[in-house]
Amino acid sequence: MARILGVFAHPDDESFSFAGTAMKLLERGHEAGLVTLTRGDKGRWYGKRPLYSWDSRALARERAKEWRGAVATIGLGRAWLLRWPDQGVSGAPVDRITMQLTRIYREFRPDAVITFGPEGAGSEHDDHAGTSRHATRAFRWAADPSIRTPGHRSHHSRWLLYTTAPEAGRVMRGRRPAGYLTPTHAVDVSPYLARKAAVFEQHRTQFKDRPFFQWLLRARGGKEYFHLAIDTQRPPARELTFLR
Ligand SMILES: [Zn+2]
Repeated sequence: MARILGVFAHPDDESFSFAGTAMKLLERGHEAGLVTLTRGDKGRWYGKRPLYSWDSRALARERAKEWRGAVATIGLGRAWLLRWPDQGVSGAPVDRITMQLTRIYREFRPDAVITFGPEGAGSEHDDHAGTSRHATRAFRWAADPSIRTPGHRSHHSRWLLYTTAPEAGRVMRGRRPAGYLTPTHAVDVSPYLARKAAVFEQHRTQFKDRPFFQWLLRARGGKEYFHLAIDTQRPPARELTFLR
């Protein structure tokens, strides 16, 4: 049995490249958890009311509800929705945000942490790149016994994986974009595509991205892609059997 923790920036990020893998792992008896750093309170509202007619607190409340729906649809046992400001993840105080993630890692004790790649998941979203840096730093902090968290002892996660995309979809005019990560693992989530789409459907205020989500679902051919950034032990990738 393995325990996997996804760390992402906004409600709906989990549906793109983590939900299918999480559902597959859960069905096979593994454990999966989710940390979402913001409530997506800066986004534009698509829903009952006209655009921009909701203040950010109302939007945050609604997106928190949608996020809980997504967590339930995946079937996650543990999930944390934090309150870092949307569009403020990169500039969040390093010690505070890393410490918060360190505490969560030490409580949940994942074997693998999955987060965005340092390039920001190809979307050039600063929050995504920031999330990658904070989640990666906490991976190291959680394992360091000299960094103390009352009530929780240090914890070594073995694997750190970054979400990525198949190479074919990324090459433009024969060139890869800067920071592109070649996948080391392609997880077949084809039996879960309808349920994965149902996870995104929970995020009603994010429906501006619905065509993109649907396109991505088709373009990825039933797979979710990861780049193994860190394996703290030998042998390497072969040991990640639960990701098959
Ligand atoms: Zn996002």
